[in-house]
Amino acid sequence: MTLLIRLAKVGRMPHPRASVVASVDLLVCDRCGLCLPLCPPEAIHLALDELVVDRHACTGCRKCIAPCPVGALAMVPA
Ligand code: SF4
Ligand code: SF4
Repeated sequence: MTLLIRLAKVGRMPHPRASVVASVDLLVCDRCGLCLPLCPPEAIHLALDELVVDRHACTGCRKCIAPCPVGALAMVPA
């Protein structure tokens, strides 16, 4: 498990505790930024005005899902 956690931290595979990860529908997301500070591992980023969820950092906690005002985030298999 130690090796799995180490590989997850460097982004080579999904987080070992996550069976599902967050995914954003960019056609729905309005780039409001509300979800960014809600993510404990800071897995959500705005890059070049596009929201990006780092599936390798996402722990699957779901804290970002309900607060999204337009329902752009959903959980998908890791
Ligand atoms: S809260 Fe929803 S609409 Fe706002 S940036 Fe996040 S995913 Fe996009
Ligand atoms: S499910 Fe949790 S860890 Fe993953 S992007 Fe949303 S808030 Fe961050």
